[in-house]
Formats: sequence, structure tokens, C-alpha cells
Amino acid sequence: MKPQVISFHYNLTDKAGKAIESSRKGEPLVCLEGAGQILPGLEEALSTLKKGEKKTVKLAAGDAYGEHDAKLIVHVPKSQLPEVEGGELKKGFQFQSETPEGHVQIFTVTEIKDSQVTLDGNHPLAGQDLTFDVEVMEIRDATEEELQHGHAHGGDGHHHH
Ligand code: ZN
Repeated sequence: MKPQVISFHYNLTDKAGKAIESSRKGEPLVCLEGAGQILPGLEEALSTLKKGEKKTVKLAAGDAYGEHDAKLIVHVPKSQLPEVEGGELKKGFQFQSETPEGHVQIFTVTEIKDSQVTLDGNHPLAGQDLTFDVEVMEIRDATEEELQHGHAHGGDGHHHH
């Protein structure tokens, strides 16, 4: 079977049922199966659904954005960080850095003490069990072009980039 392009809406909540994110205010998310665009556990669940079907998908932290890894918390002197455009470094500020494997890793400033800054390289949702309430809006075969590009071209297959 050809890889599918799945358009879906989702509401993401944490273990306590608190809303984290939702696609409902905008367009559905469109993903190409097998392209690694979304969490594998979520994709697996979506691929069993048909158009119009809904499902609650629960992912443990380890199957979502990983456990919180204390090794990804680093302390660096302020002077080593790039200049912050238009102001002062603040808590919650994020820096991007590229790992040797070419992945983009985001570090969030969690503490500033004098000239020492604490950065957390964990995904903001690391360590959290997540619940996705999904609804499949559209599902179709991927086009040749999409397969070549390795990403979906919108719900209708038209080029959007
Ligand atoms: Zn493309």
C-alpha cells in the first residue's frame, strides 16, 4: 500500500487533562506517513483510522517526547551565549543548536544567576504522558511528488511551498 497523507485535527492534553495544544482553531495538520513528521505512536494510531473517525491516543512520556534527561541541563557562562537581539536574556528564552547528527536541538533558559545561565535541552514536553484526541479529516494516497519531497503538500496535494 502506498504511504498515506493524513489530515487530522488534534487536541493535546497532559496527564491531568490540561490543554497543551490544539489544531482546532486553524487548519488540520497534514502529515505524510513514514516521513517522521509526527510522533511515531501517533502516526501508528492514525494509520488505523478512516476519514471522519476519532480516537483518543495516549502516549507515555517515553513514547512521546522522551523522559526528562538531567544530562541535557547545562550551565554556561552568559558570555558564551550568542547576543540576544533587542534586549536582555530572560527565562524562557530559547536557543537553537545543531547536534553532530544534524538535528536541531532547542535549549530553553531556565535560570539566570549572575553570569551563569542554566539551559535545558529537553523538549518542553519531555517527561510528560500525553493524550491526543484526534479526528481524521482526510486521508489519501501520497502523490509521487510528495514521496520525492518527503513531505505532504497540504490536504489536497497542492504545492504549498
Ligand atoms: Zn514539496
